[in-house]
Amino acid sequence: MTALIVGTLLALTALSFVLYPMLTSAGESVTVPEARPMVSSDTSQAAAVDALREIEFDRATGKLSDFDYDSLKASYTQRALTAMRGEKGSVCENCGPRSETGAIFCSNCGTALS
Ligand SMILES: [Zn+2]
Repeated sequence: MTALIVGTLLALTALSFVLYPMLTSAGESVTVPEARPMVSSDTSQAAAVDALREIEFDRATGKLSDFDYDSLKASYTQRALTAMRGEKGSVCENCGPRSETGAIFCSNCGTALS
């Protein structure tokens, strides 16, 4: 008989412990954290960096195979570098963007820079 009383008390205690938060917060509104504002993606540089970040996440979560990741990363990295250097530096038609500014010829292959 004692075991039955103790068991019932334990069950009621556990039930009230579970139900208490639901009953007390019934009228309160749930605060949803505001979404973090997106990093400005209006520039092509930011868009390329965002794309790189996205494929990193996709590979980490297993949505992207290593082969696809490697090819996408090379493509997006080239795009980001082009965007970063494109405004200031020169672009070689063979080698892509060059770090040197104001150069007339490519330091890698010697082609005249545009
Ligand atoms: Zn070159």
